[in-house]
Amino acid sequence: MQLFRCENCGQRLYFDNTRCVHCGAHQGFDPDTLSMKVYDPAAAASVGHYRACTNARQVGICNWLIPPSSDASYCLSCRLSMVIPDLGVPGHIELWASLEEEKRRLLYSLLSLKLPLVSRQQDPVNGLGFRFMADAPDGDSERVLIGHQDGIITLNIAEADPVVREATRRQMAEPYRTILGHFRHEAGHYYWQLLVKDSDHIEPFRRRFGDERQDYAQALERQYQIGPMADWQQYYVSAYASAHPWEDWAETWAHYLHMVDTLDTAYQFGLSTAPRPAQSVEVQLNSNPYRDAGFDTLIAQWLPLTAALNSLNHSMGYDDVYPFSLSAAVIDKLAMVHGIIHGLPIRQGVQTN
Ligand SMILES: [Zn+2]
Ligand SMILES: [Zn+2]
Ligand SMILES: [Zn+2]
Repeated sequence: MQLFRCENCGQRLYFDNTRCVHCGAHQGFDPDTLSMKVYDPAAAASVGHYRACTNARQVGICNWLIPPSSDASYCLSCRLSMVIPDLGVPGHIELWASLEEEKRRLLYSLLSLKLPLVSRQQDPVNGLGFRFMADAPDGDSERVLIGHQDGIITLNIAEADPVVREATRRQMAEPYRTILGHFRHEAGHYYWQLLVKDSDHIEPFRRRFGDERQDYAQALERQYQIGPMADWQQYYVSAYASAHPWEDWAETWAHYLHMVDTLDTAYQFGLSTAPRPAQSVEVQLNSNPYRDAGFDTLIAQWLPLTAALNSLNHSMGYDDVYPFSLSAAVIDKLAMVHGIIHGLPIRQGVQTN
């Protein structure tokens, strides 16, 4: 994630800011230019000005702007939310707000990687949409499950409650569970359909991730009953990734987004953990990060950075912020995700699964 600057006074701003702490100007994020803009809430009710999203004005949960050229009343991010929880129920606004905040971080990554981002309204078949739902209060009805189906990503708003999320994490024996991680994972399923499924990438995909035509429900059931294979770490980025090639892809995709966003943030703060090669990401960061730097540079910077992040966390008494280790097979899969996102040629690859 990049750092931003107040157009008025030059003060440093962050992605989720709504005011400049120095000059007080109202700030919002413009998804067209991926930058923070000053806007005037009083004069900004009409087309031709940057305007606050309706979810900012009415519920105060959004800091994205509507560009002057648009006549929409919701921002790009909020327009993607097709179902939101009942805001009359106490606590729902806060949970929903947390989900929207992390969703905007996902969308920032998708936009900055120049991935296709089309809403359900624009394309009812291949467009992307989100549903944020609560379990029925009676507790009898079917629970809302996190998932992706044909472009629709669903999250249970309870997942935004840290107590619930941590309890689930422990119950599932997962080392890592975050809202942003869910969004990145589910987006991976969406982009698999969009970029891999009916493309030339399908055979290289199968060589690395396995044949996705195996029965999905059975595979998940098997994983649930007997757990992952003993040596999953040799082949997969997470235990869950070993359940089915689709899950492997989604986990690997999410991991790639973890990497590029965290590296971007580290770079923005001037953090350096290893000598930089002559042509480092530093040079190209403003155009299209990491495309020209190449995957090898990316991974060479990532590994020492995660070691430093974990050590910093331990110094503050926390656990690993990055509880993963990357095998050669996993690094090869990540390289394929990198190639697909940046439109690079994909090597056939060796059979690993
Ligand atoms: Zn300012
Ligand atoms: Zn909005
Ligand atoms: Zn999944």
